[in-house]
Amino acid sequence: MTDTQPAIGADIAVETVDAGGERPLKPALLKGWRRRCPSCGTGPLLKGYLKVRDTCTVCGEELYHQRADDGPAYLTIIVVGHLLAPMIHIAYVQFRPEPMTLATVFTVGAVALSLYLLPRFKGAMVGIQWAKRMHGFGAPPRSGQPVEAAQ
Ligand SMILES: [Zn+2]
Repeated sequence: MTDTQPAIGADIAVETVDAGGERPLKPALLKGWRRRCPSCGTGPLLKGYLKVRDTCTVCGEELYHQRADDGPAYLTIIVVGHLLAPMIHIAYVQFRPEPMTLATVFTVGAVALSLYLLPRFKGAMVGIQWAKRMHGFGAPPRSGQPVEAAQ
């Protein structure tokens, strides 16, 4: 054996090849908006109102990589605020309702719209992160992989 060739099995770099390329963004975003798994579109994404499942119950896709954090809340505030603020103005100018009527209607409307939008924005955000392979969504699955020491 010459010194120029390595011994069989010695120091052969094992690359973890990312199997996937681009994941289509729009379908993943829409599946997330429907609060479904961005991968298969059938499994429920959320457990309860806002908790994202660790894995999809249908396809087994790992969902715990998501890092939506405060993003859905920011989006909800932006949308609800920009919808209801001009609507309050229009309702006041057009109808001049009693102040308590105006406050009650728009309070209920703001809360209802926020509760509707928040989990959907969260699902859409998880879908975007999944499609863009952010935060470990692009990594090979953990199960069956050899555990390597953290660096
Ligand atoms: Zn799934």
